[in-house]
Amino acid sequence: MARSALERLVVDVPDFPEPGIVFKDISPVLADHDAFTVVIGALAQSGRDDQGRVVVDKVVGMEARGFILAAPVALALGCGFVPVRKAGKLPRETHAVSYELEYGRATLELHRDAIAPGDRVLLVDDVLATGGTVAATNQLVEQCGGTPHAVSVLMELGFLDGRSKADGVPVDSLLTI
Ligand code: IMP
Repeated sequence: MARSALERLVVDVPDFPEPGIVFKDISPVLADHDAFTVVIGALAQSGRDDQGRVVVDKVVGMEARGFILAAPVALALGCGFVPVRKAGKLPRETHAVSYELEYGRATLELHRDAIAPGDRVLLVDDVLATGGTVAATNQLVEQCGGTPHAVSVLMELGFLDGRSKADGVPVDSLLTI
Protein backbone atom coordinates (compact mmCIF):
# COMPACT_ATOMS: atom_id res chain seq x y z
CA MET A 1 0.00 0.00 0.00
CA ALA A 2 1.37 3.41 -0.99
CA ARG A 3 2.15 5.92 1.73
CA SER A 4 -0.28 8.39 0.13
CA ALA A 5 -3.11 5.82 0.30
CA LEU A 6 -2.37 5.25 3.98
CA GLU A 7 -2.25 8.99 4.64
CA ARG A 8 -5.64 9.46 2.98
CA LEU A 9 -7.18 7.13 5.56
CA VAL A 10 -6.17 9.43 8.44
CA VAL A 11 -8.92 11.97 9.06
CA ASP A 12 -8.20 15.50 10.33
CA VAL A 13 -10.69 16.54 13.01
CA PRO A 14 -10.46 20.28 13.72
CA ASP A 15 -10.98 21.58 17.26
CA PHE A 16 -10.85 18.17 18.96
CA PRO A 17 -10.52 17.58 21.88
CA GLU A 18 -10.39 21.36 22.30
CA PRO A 19 -10.37 24.48 20.11
CA GLY A 20 -7.18 24.96 18.09
CA ILE A 21 -6.15 21.28 18.06
CA VAL A 22 -6.38 19.34 14.78
CA PHE A 23 -6.79 15.74 15.92
CA LYS A 24 -5.50 12.99 13.61
CA ASP A 25 -8.10 10.21 13.69
CA ILE A 26 -6.36 6.96 12.74
CA SER A 27 -9.40 4.74 13.31
CA PRO A 28 -10.15 4.40 9.54
CA VAL A 29 -6.69 2.79 9.16
CA LEU A 30 -7.69 0.16 11.73
CA ALA A 31 -11.01 -0.42 9.96
CA ASP A 32 -9.27 -1.23 6.66
CA HIS A 33 -7.86 -4.79 6.79
CA ASP A 34 -5.20 -4.21 4.13
CA ALA A 35 -4.02 -0.97 5.72
CA PHE A 36 -4.03 -2.44 9.23
CA THR A 37 -1.99 -5.44 8.02
CA VAL A 38 0.58 -3.23 6.27
CA VAL A 39 0.87 -0.94 9.29
CA ILE A 40 1.48 -3.78 11.76
CA GLY A 41 4.15 -5.30 9.52
CA ALA A 42 5.87 -1.96 9.07
CA LEU A 43 5.77 -1.04 12.78
CA ALA A 44 7.23 -4.45 13.65
CA GLN A 45 10.29 -3.77 11.46
CA SER A 46 11.61 -1.50 14.22
CA GLY A 47 12.02 -4.60 16.39
CA ARG A 48 14.25 -6.38 13.84
CA ASP A 49 17.86 -5.95 12.73
CA ASP A 50 19.03 -5.63 9.11
CA GLN A 51 18.88 -9.43 8.69
CA GLY A 52 15.30 -9.54 9.93
CA ARG A 53 16.17 -11.06 13.31
CA VAL A 54 14.02 -10.01 16.25
CA VAL A 55 16.14 -7.90 18.62
CA VAL A 56 13.59 -6.94 21.27
CA ASP A 57 12.15 -8.85 24.22
CA LYS A 58 9.00 -6.86 24.89
CA VAL A 59 6.67 -4.52 23.01
CA VAL A 60 5.14 -1.71 25.08
CA GLY A 61 1.93 0.04 24.00
CA MET A 62 0.69 3.28 25.50
CA GLU A 63 -2.97 3.72 26.47
CA ALA A 64 -5.17 3.64 24.58
CA ARG A 65 -4.58 3.49 20.81
CA GLY A 66 -1.05 2.25 21.39
CA PHE A 67 -2.59 -0.99 22.73
CA ILE A 68 -4.36 -1.63 19.43
CA LEU A 69 -1.12 -1.40 17.47
CA ALA A 70 1.42 -2.77 19.96
CA ALA A 71 -0.39 -6.05 20.72
CA PRO A 72 -0.36 -7.34 17.12
CA VAL A 73 3.21 -6.04 16.68
CA ALA A 74 4.21 -8.13 19.72
CA LEU A 75 2.57 -11.22 18.20
CA ALA A 76 4.28 -10.56 14.84
CA LEU A 77 7.67 -10.40 16.60
CA GLY A 78 7.04 -13.35 18.91
CA CYS A 79 7.36 -11.08 21.96
CA GLY A 80 5.26 -10.31 24.99
CA PHE A 81 3.05 -7.21 25.08
CA VAL A 82 3.18 -4.78 28.01
CA PRO A 83 0.60 -2.01 28.58
CA VAL A 84 1.57 1.43 29.85
CA ARG A 85 -1.57 2.86 31.42
CA LYS A 86 -2.94 6.10 32.79
CA ALA A 87 -2.75 6.55 36.57
CA GLY A 88 -4.81 4.24 38.76
CA LYS A 89 -5.63 1.57 36.15
CA LEU A 90 -2.97 -1.06 36.85
CA PRO A 91 -3.79 -3.29 39.84
CA ARG A 92 -0.32 -4.16 41.14
CA GLU A 93 2.82 -2.27 42.14
CA THR A 94 3.82 0.28 39.50
CA HIS A 95 6.43 2.80 38.50
CA ALA A 96 4.84 6.17 37.68
CA VAL A 97 5.96 9.20 35.66
CA SER A 98 4.08 12.49 35.18
CA TYR A 99 4.49 14.54 32.00
CA GLU A 100 3.03 17.33 29.87
CA LEU A 101 0.61 16.43 27.07
CA GLU A 102 -0.04 18.41 23.88
CA TYR A 103 -3.22 19.33 25.75
CA GLY A 104 -3.06 18.93 29.53
CA ARG A 105 -1.01 16.87 31.95
CA ALA A 106 -0.99 13.14 32.69
CA THR A 107 0.64 10.36 34.66
CA LEU A 108 1.57 7.01 33.11
CA GLU A 109 2.24 3.79 34.99
CA LEU A 110 3.90 0.45 34.28
CA HIS A 111 3.80 -2.70 36.42
CA ARG A 112 7.20 -2.97 38.09
CA ASP A 113 7.63 -6.63 37.11
CA ALA A 114 6.39 -6.25 33.51
CA ILE A 115 9.89 -5.54 32.16
CA ALA A 116 12.83 -7.62 33.37
CA PRO A 117 16.24 -6.02 33.93
CA GLY A 118 18.12 -6.19 30.64
CA ASP A 119 15.03 -6.45 28.47
CA ARG A 120 15.21 -4.57 25.16
CA VAL A 121 11.91 -2.83 24.57
CA LEU A 122 10.10 -1.55 21.49
CA LEU A 123 7.64 1.31 22.16
CA VAL A 124 4.61 1.45 19.84
CA ASP A 125 1.99 4.21 19.66
CA ASP A 126 -0.35 5.71 17.08
CA VAL A 127 0.77 9.34 17.08
CA LEU A 128 3.95 11.09 18.25
CA ALA A 129 3.05 14.69 19.06
CA THR A 130 5.07 16.66 21.64
CA GLY A 131 7.00 13.54 22.71
CA GLY A 132 5.90 13.69 26.35
CA THR A 133 4.31 10.24 26.22
CA VAL A 134 7.38 8.65 24.67
CA ALA A 135 9.74 10.39 27.11
CA ALA A 136 7.67 9.21 30.09
CA THR A 137 7.49 5.65 28.74
CA ASN A 138 11.26 5.56 28.16
CA GLN A 139 11.70 6.55 31.81
CA LEU A 140 9.29 3.85 32.99
CA VAL A 141 11.14 1.17 30.98
CA GLU A 142 14.45 2.35 32.43
CA GLN A 143 13.04 2.35 35.98
CA CYS A 144 12.36 -1.38 35.47
CA GLY A 145 15.96 -1.90 34.32
CA GLY A 146 15.02 -2.30 30.65
CA THR A 147 16.49 -0.55 27.62
CA PRO A 148 14.28 1.28 25.10
CA HIS A 149 15.44 -0.07 21.72
CA ALA A 150 13.27 2.03 19.37
CA VAL A 151 10.02 3.96 19.11
CA SER A 152 7.67 2.99 16.30
CA VAL A 153 4.65 5.17 15.49
CA LEU A 154 2.07 5.28 12.74
CA MET A 155 2.17 9.08 12.50
CA GLU A 156 4.56 11.79 13.65
CA LEU A 157 3.52 15.44 13.93
CA GLY A 158 6.95 16.63 12.79
CA PHE A 159 6.27 20.31 13.49
CA LEU A 160 6.10 19.52 17.24
CA ASP A 161 9.58 17.88 17.17
CA GLY A 162 8.55 15.15 19.62
CA ARG A 163 11.45 12.96 18.55
CA SER A 164 13.87 15.36 20.24
CA LYS A 165 12.39 14.17 23.58
CA ALA A 166 13.15 10.50 22.87
CA ASP A 167 16.55 10.75 24.62
CA GLY A 168 18.47 9.40 21.64
CA VAL A 169 16.20 6.37 21.19
CA PRO A 170 15.60 5.98 17.41
CA VAL A 171 12.11 6.99 16.26
CA ASP A 172 10.56 5.32 13.20
CA SER A 173 7.34 6.83 11.82
CA LEU A 174 5.34 5.52 8.88
CA LEU A 175 3.82 8.93 8.14
CA THR A 176 5.24 12.35 8.99
CA ILE A 177 3.30 15.56 8.66
P1 IMP B 1 2.52 13.50 22.98
O1 IMP B 1 2.75 12.96 24.36
O2 IMP B 1 2.27 14.96 22.96
O3 IMP B 1 3.60 13.06 22.01
O4 IMP B 1 1.15 12.88 22.47
C1 IMP B 1 1.09 11.57 22.02
C2 IMP B 1 -0.04 10.84 22.67
O5 IMP B 1 -1.23 11.60 22.57
C3 IMP B 1 -0.25 9.52 21.97
O6 IMP B 1 -0.50 8.52 22.93
C4 IMP B 1 -1.45 9.77 21.07
O7 IMP B 1 -2.35 8.68 21.13
C5 IMP B 1 -2.09 11.03 21.62
N1 IMP B 1 -2.28 12.03 20.55
C6 IMP B 1 -1.80 13.28 20.50
N2 IMP B 1 -2.21 13.93 19.41
C7 IMP B 1 -2.96 13.04 18.74
C8 IMP B 1 -3.68 13.10 17.49
O8 IMP B 1 -3.70 14.12 16.76
N3 IMP B 1 -4.32 11.96 17.11
C9 IMP B 1 -4.30 10.84 17.87
N4 IMP B 1 -3.66 10.76 19.03
C10 IMP B 1 -3.00 11.85 19.47
